[in-house]
Amino acid sequence: MDFAFRTGNPADIETDALVLPVVKGVEGPRLGDTASAIDARLSGELFRLAAEAGFTGGAVSTLIVPTLGQLPARRIILTGVVAPDGVSRDLLSRGAGAAVRAARDAGAKRVTIALPDVYWLEDEDVASALESSAIGAALGLYRFDAYRGAASPDSANNRRVESITFVDPNLSEQDARLAIRRAEAIARGVAIARDLGNEPASTLTPQILSERAQAIADASGLAIEILGPDQLAAIGAAATLAVGGGSSNGPRMIRLRYTPEGAPASARVTGLVGKAITFDTGGYSIKPYEGMLHMKGDMAGGAAVLGAMSALRDLGVGHAVVAAICAAENMISGDAFRPGDVLRGMNGVTMEILSTDAEGRLVLADGLVDTARRGATELIDLATLTGAAVVALGNGTTALFASDDPLADRLLAASKTAGERMWRMPLIDELEQQIEGDVADIKNSGGRAGGAITAALFLRHFRENLPWAHLDIAPSNRQDKPGPLGPKGATGVGVRTLLQYLTTD
Ligand code: MN
Ligand code: MN
Repeated sequence: MDFAFRTGNPADIETDALVLPVVKGVEGPRLGDTASAIDARLSGELFRLAAEAGFTGGAVSTLIVPTLGQLPARRIILTGVVAPDGVSRDLLSRGAGAAVRAARDAGAKRVTIALPDVYWLEDEDVASALESSAIGAALGLYRFDAYRGAASPDSANNRRVESITFVDPNLSEQDARLAIRRAEAIARGVAIARDLGNEPASTLTPQILSERAQAIADASGLAIEILGPDQLAAIGAAATLAVGGGSSNGPRMIRLRYTPEGAPASARVTGLVGKAITFDTGGYSIKPYEGMLHMKGDMAGGAAVLGAMSALRDLGVGHAVVAAICAAENMISGDAFRPGDVLRGMNGVTMEILSTDAEGRLVLADGLVDTARRGATELIDLATLTGAAVVALGNGTTALFASDDPLADRLLAASKTAGERMWRMPLIDELEQQIEGDVADIKNSGGRAGGAITAALFLRHFRENLPWAHLDIAPSNRQDKPGPLGPKGATGVGVRTLLQYLTTD
């Protein structure tokens, strides 16, 4: 997407669609200064048409009004960006996303977005409103088109927005350019995660994921090291080797490192660990048909880590970040691991396999220990880990577990700002007994009761005494229908929260 900015009066701009942010009113939308001036140019018809249509400007609702030659803009798109409890970056993003999607569906190619009047913004400034709107617009227009051909049912509707221009009477060019650059970096990170999540498993094996990570690392100024089966054996990553053992596409651990320019701002080194099971059949504890349907997306945690890492240099993150993406394909063969097998973790904790379908926690165990040993001072893992998290929270909300209250609070605050819903779940010590091993230290399944919690308790054995948080993104890594921030499919969840977290001191 091509983003531009110009100073000026939105009413004078020639465009296919002019997006005007509005606030919910009673009879119709409340129009700010910009929209009121345009309404006056249209003899009050803008407000009257909106009111007749029952459009009151509620958050993330939109209304298209043709201008029929009365304005240089061919259409106005009103979009609600304020909820009863005020404006937020999340609403600005979703309002812009909904508006550009409406513009695209109406056939607009050039879209202009007026920034909200400053008195609506409360604590936000106009530059951050631009950043949020640009993120929302980019995500809203995201598509995964790699495999669409002429016969695609979507090809009849193959509409594209070609350019988006933001306009504001007061914002400086320099502040606008900076905000656009930040938004582009964040949206690119999310798109990386979505592209990987939408890619079929046959064309995203652990090896291919490594190659894509290599290209992203090269383009983003990251150090990268890719560990194949031999190197995994050398560091004692037996769990990763066991999980990946059944596939002819062998496992990889992708190590990334970001080092800030100049002297680091602090001794803090954030460690990110992502589950990247490129396909999860369940192994010999095989999944039923429905359970296997979306398992190409079982690498969403690793994809989010890669997406976030890609943006760190552009965002000027001031401290070091190390990451491990734990990539394996969980398949069945004569070399696959079995229920009853015992694996030794890199830190010596032994793991008894009850279910080969509880494989994510096994590769994460290796990733957590390895990342701790590489100098992390705090650990955050992301994983499509448990169906139990989906049962607990429904679709769309990430389950957060943390060993440490300040870390949990900072992540919750970051997720709220970023607009990725998250809910803290408890680490209940008494449930440890559900994962006590019969012949080993712990077992990899604690049964149905509290399944998301016992999975987190399992991971806690590998935090190496560091503050640690675990994000179970099984409920939030994909959406079943289009929304203001993108189409059906992979959401790239986690990227925006991680970037908000890493850019906050
Ligand atoms: Mn599984
Ligand atoms: Mn899995």
